[in-house]
Amino acid sequence: MSLRAQLLSWYDANARDLAWRVGPGHHAAGVRADPYRVWLSEVMLQQTTVPHATPYFLKFTARWPTVNELAAAPDEDVMAAWAGLGYYARARNLLACARAVAKDHGGVFPDTEEGLRSLPGLGPYTAAAVAAIAFDRPANVVDGNVERVMSRLFAVEQPLPDAKPELKRLAAALVAEDRPGDWAQALMDLGATICRPKSPLCERCPVIDHCAAFATGAPESYPRRAAKAERPHRHGVAYVLTRGDEVALVRRPPKGLLGGMLALPTSDWRAERWSDAEALAAAPADVDWRGVGEVEHGFTHFTLTLRLLRAEGDADGVIWRPRRDLDALPSVFLKAARAGLTNLL
Ligand code: SF4
Repeated sequence: MSLRAQLLSWYDANARDLAWRVGPGHHAAGVRADPYRVWLSEVMLQQTTVPHATPYFLKFTARWPTVNELAAAPDEDVMAAWAGLGYYARARNLLACARAVAKDHGGVFPDTEEGLRSLPGLGPYTAAAVAAIAFDRPANVVDGNVERVMSRLFAVEQPLPDAKPELKRLAAALVAEDRPGDWAQALMDLGATICRPKSPLCERCPVIDHCAAFATGAPESYPRRAAKAERPHRHGVAYVLTRGDEVALVRRPPKGLLGGMLALPTSDWRAERWSDAEALAAAPADVDWRGVGEVEHGFTHFTLTLRLLRAEGDADGVIWRPRRDLDALPSVFLKAARAGLTNLL
């Protein structure tokens, strides 16, 4: 049997049951996926795992069941609902895209890869995924999982990231007019459940007969990778200022990391640690600060260590919010606020 036929028949029997998915049985019976749900899930999944994204997906679709309803939502509500998914630029792009679909396309997603690409904030991967999954267009849907599967099936020796164009070309050669949506999802499922990054389950793999990496005896050594530069480290100070049950927050500038989000007041983030004197000089108020430890947080491109200073008092130019509202903060500030409010050093 051909590689395509083997993988599709495996998918027919083993497709993951996902909140946004129309499974192969229903799809064969003519049920079509809702482009809004496919698009939303793909945006969420670009930065997190299925188990982490699913509750967010369910929350978003319960609150905003259609793209028009999402488009009409206030920015702040969507940003708060996104908190915990990280990388807030995506939430801003999500809203820009929803509003363009609502305003310029009558609430209907374009049904081609090219049309989808014309929407703001909708990149080539998402356009290909929505075109294939929602509209059964023969689009080449290539993310990190698919790159890994291709690198193994064809034992590609060129290391990533230089191998990306070759991996994309290999994936394109497998795309066909027949069941393109199922094909894209079958590859995703294979990468997520069988051809896993560190320990591929080759003995359960439906395409083992076609796999050149398996034949080498060391499939997990693919994809080859160029030596990695170490992730840079930055340091900052976060200020946990309380006034009774309320905590002082600020709104971050609209551009840049975590732009537009509510946050704890912080110093700049820089390569060197902050001394006590520097930390006090950068504080948002002249009150009796004391050190209560530090927290570390990993962003995509760097790791941040935040020294925590805690005080009770008042300050100008801050936004007071009750402690129970802190759950809506981005993860890094939620972590810092929780530690700052509970650490008694
Ligand atoms: Fe991946 Fe192993 Fe299957 Fe090859 S045989 S595609 S390495 S799971």
